[in-house]
Amino acid sequence: MASRVAVIGAGPCGLAQLDAFEDAREQGAEVPEIVCFEKQGDWGGLWNYTWRTGLDEHGDPVHGSMYRYLWSNGPKECLEFADYTFDEHFGQPIPSFPPREVLYDYITGRARKRNVRRHIQFSTAVRWVSYDQAAGKFAVTVAPSDGGPGRTEPFDHVIVATGHFSTPNVPSFPGFGQFPGRIMHSHDFRDAQEFAGKRLLVIGSSYSAEDIALQARKYGAQSVTISYRTAPMGFRWPAGISEVPLLTGVDGNKAEFADGTTCEVDAIVLCTGYQHSFGFIADELRLRTPNVLYPDHLYKGVFWLDNPDLMYLGMQDQFYTFTMFDGQAWYARDYVLGRLTLPSRADMATDIAHWRGRLAECRGPSDQIDFQGDYVADLYKDVDYPSYDVDLTRAHFKAWEHDKEVSITGYRDRSFSSPCTGSVTPVHHTPWWAALDDSMATFLGDPG
Ligand code: FAD
Ligand code: NAP
Ligand code: MG
Repeated sequence: MASRVAVIGAGPCGLAQLDAFEDAREQGAEVPEIVCFEKQGDWGGLWNYTWRTGLDEHGDPVHGSMYRYLWSNGPKECLEFADYTFDEHFGQPIPSFPPREVLYDYITGRARKRNVRRHIQFSTAVRWVSYDQAAGKFAVTVAPSDGGPGRTEPFDHVIVATGHFSTPNVPSFPGFGQFPGRIMHSHDFRDAQEFAGKRLLVIGSSYSAEDIALQARKYGAQSVTISYRTAPMGFRWPAGISEVPLLTGVDGNKAEFADGTTCEVDAIVLCTGYQHSFGFIADELRLRTPNVLYPDHLYKGVFWLDNPDLMYLGMQDQFYTFTMFDGQAWYARDYVLGRLTLPSRADMATDIAHWRGRLAECRGPSDQIDFQGDYVADLYKDVDYPSYDVDLTRAHFKAWEHDKEVSITGYRDRSFSSPCTGSVTPVHHTPWWAALDDSMATFLGDPG
């Protein structure tokens, strides 16, 4: 077997893929050559925090969209690796909503345990992927960021794991050109303390808007006004945070909204989402999709319909994250290893249409959680990923949605049980709204 596999990106998805192959190798399978290209100097993807914004030290767009003081926004029990539990990693049960550094430690802990780092070429960006029909292989062009010569290598399979929360969607509004304060996208948001004492306007009504509004207020913003396009989030916001309809424009510091109301603001954060952006992939292989739970053209949410030797991981909108990535990675692995065969193109297209039809019927978060839970379970049923209680994770997600309705500042103080070990996790020593220090040492230790 002289087959070669390229994995592009060493974030949670790329690492899941390397783990999946390593797991098979440990069990005696003959595994092809795996080469993972990662444009950053280290692994972890978005979880690998950087202070940088704009362009990186090599002149490439900064990948990172995570910010200081970011805590898990869902219960960690819903993303627990079934082959590497939190109890195994930390040696003790830990609370359900860890800060970023703790989850980074967990993700990279599994990768360290399986010793997958040897497959990764760091500081090496993939610049172009095309398919050579005559050779029946992909051509992958990479550029080391030290400025050394680029090269093009042949691969039998390409697995794209480059994420889709890095290229911002940045609308403009009348008057922005003359606004006297700072205007930024959430991709460039790093430290909420920048807005202490300021009147902040946040645009958008999804996870980034919710979390950045709360953060900014938690770290001292004088007020936060959240402007929605389609519908308000409708949470019971703490004092100092309010929701208004869409911004129609700014006039100096004065922001004007669709309902005719106005308010003065000092800074604006556009929490208006991200674009799936794959400028390094040839046109006929490039996924084009909005942020949805079942992108079109991907069989099993993974295999490029027109050429399933090209696979995409983690391109869905995400309730489930790490465990969904694992299901996809295990599935992709078994296809590459010849353990699974795929149906005809027509049958794959029918299957995609079936899932997308079901998605169109979803009414609200509860249906969406069940939809993605079913998708994840459908992946697991064909692969040897260790079984765990997926139904419990659905119940957890639904409880979490309810907790957020009850208290948007308090939902992170709840605790959930592990779907893998059954262990019930402790409540964190400090309520999230009062916890200003997000370091791993403080989170895992006592409040001091
Ligand atoms: P990424 O983490 O984006 O990793 C992709 C990797 O590919 C990066 O390392 C990047 O450098 C590399 N790459 C990109 N292009 C190239 C190229 N051309 N060549 C080589 N390498 C390349 N999920 C949760 O479960 N819980 C949370 O609390 C949570 N919070 C989030 C907060 C924010 C602000 C954002 C934006 C997302 C959050 N997520 C959260 C979701 C997040 O998408 C996933 O947790 C996870 O990081 C996705 O993994 P990924 O591997 O698909 O992508
Ligand atoms: P998103 O979920 O795709 O939401 C994009 C938002 O932008 C929507 O509310 C959309 O409004 C709005 N929008 C888009 N274009 C607009 C326009 N022209 N004018 C006004 N509003 C516009 O993106 P996201 O909120 O950035 O979340 C991305 C990911 O990051 C999610 O997976 C989330 O879980 C994760 N995240 C996690 C945390 C955490 O706490 N750990 C924090 C932040 C983000 P419509 O509804 O009108 O379309
Ligand atoms: Mg099926």
